[in-house]
Amino acid sequence: MQSILLHAPGELQLTGMPTPTLDKGDVLVKVKAALTCGTDLKAFLRGHPQIPMPGPFGHEFAGVVAAIGEGVYQFKPGDPVMCVHSAPCGECYWCLKDQGNLCPSVMETKVLGAYAEYVRVPAHIVRQNMFPKPDYLSYQEAALLEPLACVVYGLNQVPVSPGDAVLVIGTGAIGLLFLLLLKARRISRVIMAGRRSFRLNMARHMGAWQVIDVVEEDLAKQVHLLTRGVGADVVIECTGKLEVWEQSFHLCRRGGHVVLFGGTPKGTVIGLDTSRLHYDQITIHSPFHFNPVSVRQAWHLLANRKIRGRELITGQFSLAELGKAFSLLQAGEGIKYAIIP
Ligand SMILES: [Zn+2]
Ligand SMILES: [Zn+2]
Repeated sequence: MQSILLHAPGELQLTGMPTPTLDKGDVLVKVKAALTCGTDLKAFLRGHPQIPMPGPFGHEFAGVVAAIGEGVYQFKPGDPVMCVHSAPCGECYWCLKDQGNLCPSVMETKVLGAYAEYVRVPAHIVRQNMFPKPDYLSYQEAALLEPLACVVYGLNQVPVSPGDAVLVIGTGAIGLLFLLLLKARRISRVIMAGRRSFRLNMARHMGAWQVIDVVEEDLAKQVHLLTRGVGADVVIECTGKLEVWEQSFHLCRRGGHVVLFGGTPKGTVIGLDTSRLHYDQITIHSPFHFNPVSVRQAWHLLANRKIRGRELITGQFSLAELGKAFSLLQAGEGIKYAIIP
């Protein structure tokens, strides 16, 4: 089969590989669509601790069952399916505490290699995190299951109710998925802050209550005005930039919640105003990854058309053109690209 290997930052190779063989409980998926992701872009540009090089690449995909291992009864060859690329073990300390997202084996046993003709999905993922894809849902949209599961998990950590003003900082795919999820949960006052006008326009089109262009406007001042001096009930940080992590605390109201969603480089440190944290009683959440409950919820949202993510996919390329998609993303063009093997 044809498969992309990430050799080193900036170095992709389209190569022939043996089609994976299956163990008990595994499913072989013929990839119909894979999506680029911010994590992939980071890995492509400068390497990523969770993406070994040289190695298979890509983790958001949907496709058709090509073969099943012994003991698989819920799927058969020809079934359209959607899944994520990891699942917890179900037995360790964290799994027993219902924190499967922190299960140490989640990252060790995850599947990379969505930029390929076939992907082997191991039994533990098939059992927990693989679902049938409805015919009316495109493969490209179905491949949003993984990023949406992360966003659903993130929002599940925060008490948020319909009257709240929620500020989302960052208008990439994750920020826009938060917007779609907040809208699906009937939160009408969503303020989107970002720096690229076409993304801000998209946010407006997707139903943002207000958008703030942080290049042209003073973010703190605008949030102050829009919330009548109170501050946002919930601030969701989706940029992974240290200065924005710090700024988030000052945009939140007294007694409000800050969600630090964007991942930051290892070993970095931020400064916090301790009196703000204590006397203004700010609650911090720093959700990582997803658990099977959030994957199932994300599947329902996509399968029931509560979330329509078509607009997040800017264009499509073949496997051989993957580098082009990353160049566009690096230049700030587009949101996500579909790779069609
Ligand atoms: Zn992803
Ligand atoms: Zn575990």
